Amino acid sequence: AEDALRQSQKMEAMGQLTGGVAHDFNNLLMVASSGLDLLERTSDPARRERLRDGIRQAIDRGASLTQQLLAFSRRSPLKPEVVDIGQRLSGMLAILDRSLREDVTVRMQLPPDLWRVEVDASQMEVAVLNIAINARDAMPDGGTITIEARNEPSGRPDGVGDMVRLAIRDTGVGVAPDMVSRLFEPFFTTKAVGKGTGLGLSQVYGFARASGGEVGVDSVLGEGTTIWLRIPRTTKALVAPPPLAGRPSALGR
Ligand code: ADP
Repeated sequence: AEDALRQSQKMEAMGQLTGGVAHDFNNLLMVASSGLDLLERTSDPARRERLRDGIRQAIDRGASLTQQLLAFSRRSPLKPEVVDIGQRLSGMLAILDRSLREDVTVRMQLPPDLWRVEVDASQMEVAVLNIAINARDAMPDGGTITIEARNEPSGRPDGVGDMVRLAIRDTGVGVAPDMVSRLFEPFFTTKAVGKGTGLGLSQVYGFARASGGEVGVDSVLGEGTTIWLRIPRTTKALVAPPPLAGRPSALGR
């Protein structure tokens, strides 16, 4: 009976989700389409630039919405590669700045000697973004998000069990103790209809598991929350990136 109840709750949540996402998506399409209409009738360069920015943002948000859904339904296959976490996270500062508010400060503490991991790098970026957006929403009056990573040696001479720990800490409202265990459940959200899908942290959970790692939460009500991931180290070498288009390659032309 409990299973049946859970199942029907899931179905109900699924219905709400589909409605909520369709609604959000429709709004974004409206924004883009009316922006385009205005753009066609505007000649002022500054105004055109603002309209273009607005359209671009609506499209970006729409793309991230569908990406969340695809990741959830596991239709986007994982493409693991050897990743330098420090480099990837530093590269995210610009997109984090765009996604957060002015009263939210991002700090990164990334030691230079971090071990490499083998993960789907774009899924890792989506996970960090999902966690950071939750952190922002948990800090209505602003605050600080600290993104830190460190090596966690297993202590075994063969290095088996060596992990890299990635933690994202906020100075927000915290999570009530009775909700902690539900945080990673798909469709669990405390946000208003149309504001939350309840899929952000389930993507994070899926990413951690698919990477052979684990995820957890430490939170103190009124003080803040830390979402952490532990991902196995790889000793494989980084694959050199392909030469940038337009630059002479190492082989010459
Ligand atoms: P959504 O953000 O769409 O609600 P998530 O799965 O990302 O879905 O998060 C689920 C819920 O977990 C949120 O609605 C919120 O109640 C809670 N939560 C997540 N991160 C935090 C945080 N950093 N501080 C407080 N609550 C959080």
